[in-house]
Amino acid sequence: MVMGDIATGTDVLVVGGGPGGYVAAIRAAQHDLDTTLVERDAYGGTCLNYGCIPSKAFITATDLAHDAGNAEAMGVSANPEIDVAAMADWKDDVVDQLTGGVEKLCKANGVNLVDGTAAFEDEHTARIAHDGSGQGMETIEFEHAIVATGSRPIEVPGFEYADDPVWSSRDALATDELPEEIVVVGAGYIGMELSTTFAKAGADVTVVEMLDDVLPGYDSRLTDVVKARAKDLGIDFQFGEGAAGWEGEDGDITVTTETEDGAESTYDAEKVLVAVGREPVTDTLELDAIGLEPDENGFLATDDQARTAVENIFAVGDVAGEPMLAHKASKEGIVAAEVVAGEPAALDSQAVPKVVFTDPEIATVGMTEADAAEAGFDPVVGEMPFRANGRSLTTGNDDGFVRIVAGGDAGFVLGAQIVGPEASELVAEVTLAIEMGATLADVASTIHTHPTLSEAVMEAAEHAQGQAIHTLNR
Ligand SMILES: Cc1cc2nc3c(=O)[nH]c(=O)nc-3n(C[C@H](O)[C@H](O)[C@H](O)COP(=O)(O)OP(=O)(O)OC[C@H]3O[C@@H](n4cnc5c(N)ncnc54)[C@H](O)[C@@H]3O)c2cc1C
Repeated sequence: MVMGDIATGTDVLVVGGGPGGYVAAIRAAQHDLDTTLVERDAYGGTCLNYGCIPSKAFITATDLAHDAGNAEAMGVSANPEIDVAAMADWKDDVVDQLTGGVEKLCKANGVNLVDGTAAFEDEHTARIAHDGSGQGMETIEFEHAIVATGSRPIEVPGFEYADDPVWSSRDALATDELPEEIVVVGAGYIGMELSTTFAKAGADVTVVEMLDDVLPGYDSRLTDVVKARAKDLGIDFQFGEGAAGWEGEDGDITVTTETEDGAESTYDAEKVLVAVGREPVTDTLELDAIGLEPDENGFLATDDQARTAVENIFAVGDVAGEPMLAHKASKEGIVAAEVVAGEPAALDSQAVPKVVFTDPEIATVGMTEADAAEAGFDPVVGEMPFRANGRSLTTGNDDGFVRIVAGGDAGFVLGAQIVGPEASELVAEVTLAIEMGATLADVASTIHTHPTLSEAVMEAAEHAQGQAIHTLNR
């Protein structure tokens, strides 16, 4: 310890205040453990401040404007205009309410909040640097630590986020002006969600993607629906092209792309949004001091109790590996806290739902038909198109389908792939079915409210049993 240090002790030190860290801290405190949460930037982490919540706020506002402006068939005519600065203010209010709530909840549960950057000194000591506060360092001694330091956007060579016209997703979600033309590099979920939003707000959007399709990793029957809708919105896709460089001034730039064969193309834009993926943050932690090394992908490897190779150090959320999703981070945070508290907790989720909030939404959970076959089931599959669902037609949003996958003699529900309206909500029913070991018969015989989109889940289960009423059983 150096002169001027303040030394404190805690049972559990949680590093990082995102959905992994703050949830872990609250659960640890609920178990009467003395808990300290250190955050170097903003409570709520990427999710609440720069990710899930601001993006969904923008998506909701631009959907509203787009739907209102395209409802002539329903007898509604309107020409909505988006005031981007006002939209950004509203989004900031939503974020502030949620992040303020996190701080209040932490305090109300007795979590000690410390602003600063934590780095390990040894397996039971961390030093906290209070950025720019002039208050010196703080040393915290701990029994257990839970690392929840999250991830950051990957940079593409030649596209530095520090340069004004180059946006990360965080910059894009902080804007209060709409660029008229934008080039989006990457057609993964963040690139596709933001492209859809900017297109609905009225921008000219060009998506440059090195691969030959959108949303790699998802079945093309799902992504084709999203791609077709994106093209209707005017999004211009350039597949097989990688971003090579840019030149010009902020507001007037030219982005150059290159194919594998070296053919170049150029696109004019005001901004270029780079959305090629995220990488775990471990370089803030001085892991050498505790002899912990990230794996070849940069993640901290953990067991099913979220424990790293160092006995008393746990890792949760994005820093602990794929899928990099907020609900997976929170679940791991709860498990880590309970293990520290001596509870017999372990990660035993049968299924982690994944959602892309495009128009329409894609949601998947559990196994695909191919996964189920590979796992030794003789899978049965049922599908219900939204165009045969009454509620879907009354919303003017009837593209897509629900597919349910089941297996085993009893017809256990194993997975679902959904593309269509409110897929993000509908997937919850299938996730619960998987966790409960429910069968197709359980889902099909459950009375679903009429007229609702959830009837499509019930009817997909009926279809898998050859008993669909509102679609043909073939
Ligand atoms: C644009 C966008 C949209 C997204 N949309 C969704 C979505 O719809 N649904 C979904 O499930 N997920 C979504 N995600 C992903 C989601 O945000 C992450 O999976 C989630 O935030 C991970 O939580 P975490 O707690 O692991 O890390 P984070 O939320 O990244 O939090 C980590 C925290 O640790 C802090 N930190 C780092 N190092 C230190 C240190 N040494 N000391 C102190 N503090 C430190 C950071 O400041 C940060 O606040 C989105 C992400 C982005 C970028």
